[in-house]
Amino acid sequence: MQSSTSASQNLPGVVPVGFFCIQRVAALGVIMLHEELVANLRNMLVEGQIPPGARIDERELCARFGISRTPLREALKVLASEGTIVLLPHKGARAAKLTRKDVADLFEVVEGLEAKAGELACERITEAQLAEIAAAHHAMVEHHKAGDLAAYYRCNRTIHELIVAAADNAVLAGLYQSVTARIRRARFVAPMSPEHWALAVLEHEAILNALVRRDSRALAYLLGRHLRHKREETERAGFAADAEQTTRNRKARTRAAGEG
Ligand SMILES: [Zn+2]
Repeated sequence: MQSSTSASQNLPGVVPVGFFCIQRVAALGVIMLHEELVANLRNMLVEGQIPPGARIDERELCARFGISRTPLREALKVLASEGTIVLLPHKGARAAKLTRKDVADLFEVVEGLEAKAGELACERITEAQLAEIAAAHHAMVEHHKAGDLAAYYRCNRTIHELIVAAADNAVLAGLYQSVTARIRRARFVAPMSPEHWALAVLEHEAILNALVRRDSRALAYLLGRHLRHKREETERAGFAADAEQTTRNRKARTRAAGEG
């Protein structure tokens, strides 16, 4: 590893510490770990700031994080091994594209995970957790009445995450987080039709009722079906194929995105 900046002559830019390297980030005045850099880049990819198929601008990223190319490329190698980016010989790197098949595969898994989470949540949910989900549900219904889609999506996401949390299974929670993060990459949401939105709210009423009754079979079925409808909606909205053309207005639309 080489020193990264002339500003850090006295302190080497890169200090190997165990398995990790500490990169002195002159621009931010903080120490950034290799792991932290990887996590930051992964977030940018997951949140759509770097859309699927987009070229990775090494120069811009180096400037943004105040680092040299060497630690950046080390981080990119990690992301390539995860399949989040693709390294191209002599051409740098691109954010991996998601195909319709990729997204369909992800949804199939998340449907199963949510169904299982619902089943377990019925056995394990506390009164306090139930009250929290009910409060989020009622807030979400108000956002639907007000036609506020972004706020609705935020509440919706909270409810789904709270159900997974109530399942109290760390493996399931970890898988859920990883898969939903990958789905968010593909989500260049088209506005929901009023009919679909109304249906989703009705589905959520049934989900809350099943949870209150601790009816695990009903809840597993309802969550699976709710997610299937979400997948159909996402497929209709279109993704992946038009990734590069829609790069410019992606950010605004991604902000309104949410699952389920
Ligand atoms: Zn939902």
